[in-house]
Amino acid sequence: ATPTALLVGTGRGAQLGILIKGPEVLESTKKVDTIVLDKTGTVTTGKMTLLGVTAADGVDEDELLRIAGAIEDASEHPIAQAIAKGATERVGALPAVESFVNIEGKGVQGIVDGHLVLVGRDSLLDEWAIETPRELTAAKAEAENAGQTAVLVAWDGRARGVLVVADAVKATSAEAIAQFVSLGLTPILLTGDNETVARRVAAQVGIERVIAEVLPQQKLEVIAQLQAEGSVVAMVGDGVNDAAALAQADLGLAMGTGTDAAIEAADLTLVRGDLRSAADAIRLSRRTLGTIK
Ligand code: ADP
Ligand code: MG
Repeated sequence: ATPTALLVGTGRGAQLGILIKGPEVLESTKKVDTIVLDKTGTVTTGKMTLLGVTAADGVDEDELLRIAGAIEDASEHPIAQAIAKGATERVGALPAVESFVNIEGKGVQGIVDGHLVLVGRDSLLDEWAIETPRELTAAKAEAENAGQTAVLVAWDGRARGVLVVADAVKATSAEAIAQFVSLGLTPILLTGDNETVARRVAAQVGIERVIAEVLPQQKLEVIAQLQAEGSVVAMVGDGVNDAAALAQADLGLAMGTGTDAAIEAADLTLVRGDLRSAADAIRLSRRTLGTIK
C-alpha cells in the first residue's frame, strides 16, 4: 500500500475509536488468523462485586472480611477491589496492612493485626501446604460451577474462608466474537482464572477454545506456542499481566479502559474498550491494503 493509503487508513481508524501506533501496524493486522482474548476486563467488564462470604467453622464472618479486606485494599486487582469495597461496606474502616506482596496471577500476601495473611487461588495456599477444610472446598466449587470466581483466605497457616466475586460479560462481547469468526479468525479465551469459570464465560460469548489457569508469564508462552504452530496471532488484553503477551503477539491490542502497561505494550488501542473495534480494525486493514475477503 502507498503511504497515503496507510495514512488515510490510520485516520479512519481514529474515527472508529482505534488508535494505531504506526502505519505499518495495518500490515500485521491484515495477516492475523487467530485472536486470543484475555477474560477479565476484556471479554468481561472487570468490574467485580463481592457476592458471597463463607467463613470456616469457628471463624467470624466480619473478622474474615476485615482481614481479607485490609490486605486486598492494597492491591489494584479487580478481585481485590471488589473484596475491599464489599468488606468496607459491611464492617467499616479496615485495619492497616504491613509487608504487602502481590503474587502475580495467584493472589496477595501481607501482615494484618500481626497475622500473616494470604488471599488467592488454591495454588497459593498449596505453596504454604495449607489444607482447605471441606466446608470451604464445597462453597468454592458451588460458586465456580455458577461461573463465579472464588478465592481462599488463610492466616497463620490455616484456611479461614472463601470469598466469591463475579463480573458480567460485556454486552458487546458476543457480537464482537461472532464478527471475528465471520472474518475467518479463530477466537481463544486465555485467562488466569480457573477452567470452570473460563468455560462458562466462553460458552456465553461463543468461544470454543479455552486456555485457563495460566500464570501471567505463561500468557506470553501460549502466544509463542501458537505462533510456532504457524498461527498469526492477535492478542487483546487490558491488564499489567497481559503486557508481555501483547508485545509477543503479531498484533497486540489493548483496551483503552485498561492499564498503561497494556496500552504501552500494544500496537493498537481500542479507545472505547469495545471489542467490536477489534473487528473494525481488521476490516479497516483489509480494506486499506486492498485484500477484502
Ligand atoms: P486474569 O487472567 O483473568 O486477568 P489473573 O492472572 O490476574 O487473572 O489472576 C488469576 C487468578 O489469581 C485469579 O482468578 C485469582 O484466583 C487469583 N488472584 C490474582 N490476584 C488476586 C488478588 N489480588 N486477590 C485474590 N486472588 C487473586
Ligand atoms: Mg484482564
